[in-house]
Amino acid sequence: MEIRIGEIRIGQGIDIHAFETGRRCVLGGVEIPSERGLLGHSDADALTHAVMDAVLGAIGQRDIGTLFPDTDASFKDADSIMLLQKVWSLAEREGWKLVNADVTLLAQVPKVKPYVTEMQQRLSSVLGCEPSRVTIKATTTERLGFIGREEGVLASAVVLLQR
Ligand code: MG
Repeated sequence: MEIRIGEIRIGQGIDIHAFETGRRCVLGGVEIPSERGLLGHSDADALTHAVMDAVLGAIGQRDIGTLFPDTDASFKDADSIMLLQKVWSLAEREGWKLVNADVTLLAQVPKVKPYVTEMQQRLSSVLGCEPSRVTIKATTTERLGFIGREEGVLASAVVLLQR
C-alpha cells in the first residue's frame, strides 16, 4: 500500500515593535490592557505579523512589508487580523492547509498569559484550523536588552503547511 505524503512547507517569521504611550497594545488579535501600546503603521500586532511572514515564507511569497507597504495610507492603523486573512487567502488559493503554527513572544511587559487562549482562538479561526494547532508561548528576557528594558517586544513564529 502506498502512503502518500503531500507536499509540506515550513515558514518562519520574526517581528519587533516598540512601545509608545497613547497607542493600543494588540497582540495575536487581542487588545491587552497596558500602560503603553505598540508603535507601527498598522495596529503593530507583532505576533500576528510574525505569523503572516511565516505563512508568506512557506508559500514562497515575499514579506508583509512588500504586500502591505507602510507608505500605503490604507494600511494605517490596520487591523492585523484582517491582514492575516488576506495573507491566508493567498495560501488557501494555492491549496495549503495549516498543519501547525508555533509562536514565541518575547516581552518583559505586558503579561500576556491570561490572553493566550483568546489569541489562539482568533488566529486559528483565520487559519481555518482548531485552536490547538496554534500554540503561543511567552517569555521575558530576564530584563536583558531592549525587551528587558521594556522598550519593545519581539515575536517569532514558525508554521508548517501541507497540501
Ligand atoms: Mg510589524
